[in-house]
Amino acid sequence: MHQVTLAGLTVDTRHYIGGQRFASDDTFESISPIDGAVLAHVSRGGAGEADAAVWAARNAFPAWRDLGPEGRGAILHRLADLIEQNIEPLAQLETLDNGSLLRSHRRGVMPRVAMNIRFFADWAMNKLEHPVWQTRGHDNVVTWDPSGVAVIITPWNAPLMLATWRIGPALAAGDTVVLKPAEWTPLTASVFADLCEQAGMPPGVFNVVQGYGTEAGAALVAHPAVARIAFTGSVPTAKAIMRSAADNLTPVSFELGGKSPFIVTDDADLDLAVELALEQYDNAGQVCLSGTRLLVHENTADAFAERFAERAAQIVQGDPREEATQIGPQIHRVHLERVAGFVERAQADGAAVAFGGGPNDELGGLYYRPTLITGAKPGSEILTAEVFGPVLAMQTFASDDEAVELANNTEYGLAAVVVCGERERAERLTKNLVAGTIWVNCFFVRDLAAPFGGSKKSGIGREGGVWSFDFYADVKNTVYAPTGWKD
Ligand code: NAD
Repeated sequence: MHQVTLAGLTVDTRHYIGGQRFASDDTFESISPIDGAVLAHVSRGGAGEADAAVWAARNAFPAWRDLGPEGRGAILHRLADLIEQNIEPLAQLETLDNGSLLRSHRRGVMPRVAMNIRFFADWAMNKLEHPVWQTRGHDNVVTWDPSGVAVIITPWNAPLMLATWRIGPALAAGDTVVLKPAEWTPLTASVFADLCEQAGMPPGVFNVVQGYGTEAGAALVAHPAVARIAFTGSVPTAKAIMRSAADNLTPVSFELGGKSPFIVTDDADLDLAVELALEQYDNAGQVCLSGTRLLVHENTADAFAERFAERAAQIVQGDPREEATQIGPQIHRVHLERVAGFVERAQADGAAVAFGGGPNDELGGLYYRPTLITGAKPGSEILTAEVFGPVLAMQTFASDDEAVELANNTEYGLAAVVVCGERERAERLTKNLVAGTIWVNCFFVRDLAAPFGGSKKSGIGREGGVWSFDFYADVKNTVYAPTGWKD
């Protein structure tokens, strides 16, 4: 009754707390965006489950901390091995649950999930050191000490990928973890808990509380025994979490939304620009980093728009399990309607739909067509608010200074893409762009050692490489005097 078999995996629909499974009285449905099938009825946790999970993690903390980087690393490497052995079923399960492309889960996402664990385990073992330096003969010795319980709250667009990007460094740093996955995509987190157990992780080191954000999530972030909160999601939720965390002064790391610019200069390789622009529709536009504002130099705008429309017409939309599919469904009926609302309001506000602009009638269900909006008024909603669907808006610019001004003209600052023919020109452009990550003549090159995060309302803090450990650990400086030692 508490288990379903999906993609050849037994998925437990209960919470995972202190190494045991617990059911709640209430459940919520996990629905597949592919065909609307109800995949599972999942335990709907609240304050009680959140409290139990935080204390389980707190009780497991001293022993996990004392294992040290090597002891933890051995378990984390076994976990990464198990993920690699389960790439195919995990990929299939994630596709069923969130509708993203199976081939990308298989080849990119799930291998990366394993790497999220392995990479940070290795970093904790081999790279967490700072040279000792002296102050008037005193040694300054910097260490990254485990900090306690990390609560990790994640969205639905890349569930296990985004969860492990925080779980990996938190566990490697010596913290214990409570994960609250998104209620639209709860399933792979549960399987991940089983893999932690198989890898020999002690009970309570990793816990999963399932449920809604305003119930289980809110209780977790308000808990006084929590040392760190890592949240990936939307700006309104981040504000609520920050208010709640303020009561305990719990440190937060936020990775939030974006409305990233995609700049094409008049000396850019047009084919490259068009191909990179098409990638902004990846994951049916449900990517925080997407360059959804195409800013194209006026000298090249017509040629770009023509070629882009030609190529966009060739995009294959359909079942995400098919190898040929490039764009799948939106995650949920509520989200599809939200996306459609943005386009309808843009049209009502005088903008034009160059192509797309509605659900895909042939496919039905939750499939929204790749869409390009042109002629939107400066400052209008479609140019400033995050749609989080396959909807791009195009504007033109006359000078590079204007491009930068337009690019920075939102409250977000997550990423930017620049397609440009000359390195010096690109360097001048990128210098004044406000964004956590900028890709020049490329997109989505993500190195786990690189800092990642958002400027302005796209986030607080940076993670990746040592920046992750700066957040999950308590960075400590111990000063040793040169005097007072007995021989
Ligand atoms: P969301 O903010 O609605 O929900 C995210 C998570 O927060 C879910 O698990 C939800 O249950 C939980 N939550 C909701 N209310 C809560 C509360 N009051 N207290 C605690 N937890 C609560 O976001 P979403 O719709 O799931 O995800 C889409 C958003 O995530 C977009 O804005 C997108 O840009 C952003 N995102 C950012 C990144 C990044 O790395 N910057 C990556 C992926 C997605």
